[in-house]
Amino acid sequence: MIRFLLSFMLPACSFVVFHLSPAAAQTNDTTTALSAVTDSLMQSIVDRREASWQIAQKIWVTAEPGYQETFSSALLADTLQAAGLKVTHKVADIPTAFTAEFGAGKPVIGILGEFDALPGLSQTAAPERVARDDANRYGHGCGHHLFGTASASATIAIAEQIKAGKLPGTVRFYGCPAEEGGSAKVFLVQAGMFDDCDAVLHWHPSSRNAAGDKSSLARMAVKFRFRGQAAHAAGAPEQGRSALDAVELTNHATQLLREHTPQTTRIHHVITAGGEAPNVVPAFAEVYYYIRHPEADILRPLYKRLELCAKAGALATETDLEIGFEGGIREILPNQTLSRIVAKNLKQLNDLSYTEDDLKFVVRMRDALPKPKPLESIAEVEDVSGTVGMGSTDVGDVSWVVPTTGFNTACWVPGTPGHSWQAVACGGHRIAEQGMHLAARTLALTAAELFTNPGVLQQAAAELKERRGDTTYRSLMQPGQKPPLNYRRPSTAASSEE
Ligand SMILES: [Zn+2]
Repeated sequence: MIRFLLSFMLPACSFVVFHLSPAAAQTNDTTTALSAVTDSLMQSIVDRREASWQIAQKIWVTAEPGYQETFSSALLADTLQAAGLKVTHKVADIPTAFTAEFGAGKPVIGILGEFDALPGLSQTAAPERVARDDANRYGHGCGHHLFGTASASATIAIAEQIKAGKLPGTVRFYGCPAEEGGSAKVFLVQAGMFDDCDAVLHWHPSSRNAAGDKSSLARMAVKFRFRGQAAHAAGAPEQGRSALDAVELTNHATQLLREHTPQTTRIHHVITAGGEAPNVVPAFAEVYYYIRHPEADILRPLYKRLELCAKAGALATETDLEIGFEGGIREILPNQTLSRIVAKNLKQLNDLSYTEDDLKFVVRMRDALPKPKPLESIAEVEDVSGTVGMGSTDVGDVSWVVPTTGFNTACWVPGTPGHSWQAVACGGHRIAEQGMHLAARTLALTAAELFTNPGVLQQAAAELKERRGDTTYRSLMQPGQKPPLNYRRPSTAASSEE
């Protein structure tokens, strides 16, 4: 049932050109091996479909912050363990990071799974803005409840085929916490957890189906904490030194800096502590910055200039500055060899459509979107080859050490922006389940193809080497930096650098 179409035509806007070597051509043997597992692989995911949705819903409801995903991490780990995979908890000294693997020897295919939620996005599964009636202010605005669950389902389906002796090697699920700002995968890379891996697959919920060798922005994160002197703001202002003034000056300096940075730079911030009463000069204030650029090597010196803005703020206000560097993540190094296989499989498997029942939700949600897209677009798979997404992911660091590729499926109503209440609402609706189910099947089929075609893995490794060129992988972390396990906890004057 599977047809192989190894296209020699390069995507129009691909920025690196690779020619397929004869060794990469599919042989009859590999085609036969893949055909032998495809039906049972797909059936396995269908059999687990309802259970997977229940798991995703539990993670969606619990909605835990980065590095605090105790419930979500344990639920996925327990599910994988119950399916016979060997689970290793607390990898890379991160309490909620884990791996689950099955099989032995080569090849080793990794599948990434995430499960953290975002702050300020409490929302029910309704197509209008309705916050939940509990105290949880987090919401799955990036769909990581779907991400982790579909990846786990695909991993289990592959493990079953290895157990049945139909696929060789090892499949490994990476339980990756704190993608939203915690950069956990960088610490997994530094702990050598991908060293024996031949290829890594991932996916991400979206409002469209997309595949291709797409990159992302490198990103550095920092919290500038200022400490001054409290005083009565009216009665003794001359005795006060305002930490909030330091934040404001930092922000002003950064706005001026913006003009003198490369066009594709992104700088954004939130004030996470700014005083509590107007009549008390704030003795403590904190501003949390992200700075991004498509190339890590350009970002490094830009980040240093951002630090200068904060130093200027401290100097002028006679406050003390503490620089809480939260870590950095690299841009994705795409892999066309792998992304072509994913694109082919996603196109072949895409069966997304809305039922009458779905449409009741979808049409109302569409009215709530600032930039809705045509509903028919879920039948398409967009080719995003050669593009750079204006977001960042810690998958970037993984892609520098092992051939890596990912894709998107339409889990949200077309046009839904990520990190929005609309995305949270869609993630609790059945339409998200359909996108998740498509993702699980695409991951499993692609992984099976990699297990049965060593030539493709060799070619993917050669492509990684060629794209990396003379550049050796260097993370954007500081030497000896530990995971910022408390980055989602509120800052106080007593907070200090992680
Ligand atoms: Zn995400």
